[in-house]
Amino acid sequence: MTQAKIIDGKAFAAELRAGVAADVAVLKEKHDLTPGLAVVLLGDDPASQIYVRNKGKQTLETGMRSFAHHLPESTSQAELLALVESLNRDGEVHGILVQLPLPEQIDEAAIIDAIDPAKDVDGFHVINSGLLATGGAGLVPCTPLGCMLMLRHELGDMSGKKALIIGRSNIVGKPLAQLLLNENCTVTIAHSRTGDLAAESRAADILVAAVGRAEMVRGDWIKPGATVIDVGINRIPAPEKGEGKTRLVGDVNFAEACEVAGAITPVPGGVGPMTIVCLLRNTVTACCRQAGIDEAALHG
Ligand code: NDP
Repeated sequence: MTQAKIIDGKAFAAELRAGVAADVAVLKEKHDLTPGLAVVLLGDDPASQIYVRNKGKQTLETGMRSFAHHLPESTSQAELLALVESLNRDGEVHGILVQLPLPEQIDEAAIIDAIDPAKDVDGFHVINSGLLATGGAGLVPCTPLGCMLMLRHELGDMSGKKALIIGRSNIVGKPLAQLLLNENCTVTIAHSRTGDLAAESRAADILVAAVGRAEMVRGDWIKPGATVIDVGINRIPAPEKGEGKTRLVGDVNFAEACEVAGAITPVPGGVGPMTIVCLLRNTVTACCRQAGIDEAALHG
């Protein structure tokens, strides 16, 4: 029997995307300005190609410009740096995203470092992580931002709640911890060396799993009524669908968690759609800041 409320990330993302499209229309009409997002992809990894295609499609659907740069796997560091520098200078490009992971000949940190922080819509540049940590107005990484928007929508005021994030990556766990701190949560970050993960989990009013291990978080790890955000995306065999077939699951055992949690995000259809819409929102934010426009004033 399902008890938990299923948080519909797909529907919420569609609502937010409509808001982005409305803001883009105002920017065009009142400011003669069209936000532009450049996405750079190296190589032919099928999953990355799907992500990049999806990002480009949604960018265009919201009325923005999309600039796709598909380079061969063998691209050198110098060639990629030259492209990033030209995008930094391009006045039609307000946001730059370099799809990770990059091939081994490329130093990922050096590429992220080369992106103009004002155009860093992924929010990975050290300037943006520093601004997030010190309460400044930088660009916030898309997946943590999407998690926050869902949590705010679900819970409203989060002051005093205990939040546990499982995973300490620079792109999810750490920035999300900062965002939850800003909401006055008491935040714990767990990782592969955490002692009793089940006990830590059971104490959490808000549980975020960002690990990359299929269905690791069991139902009896969850505090009754807790809000569970499942960031993980794992592909597992699905023999019930036919030979060689697979399906996506999160880091949380969904069926078990539904019996205990107050609300939970599904996989797919939870955090994933929110990540892309936050990228679009960050592009509008970047565009407004570069042009000296008050973003809040766009929606009246
Ligand atoms: P990383 O591999 O960078 O980090 C994983 C984290 O999980 C690490 O901090 C690691 O600990 C921790 N961990 C690993 N094993 C355990 C364990 N047994 N117990 C506790 N902690 C453990 O992953 P990402 O942060 O990049 O991504 C996490 C998941 O989220 C992946 O499934 C990824 O596909 C998904 N993802 C989804 C997105 C979306 O849009 N929905 C966007 C980004 C990611 P340690 O640091 O000690 O090694």
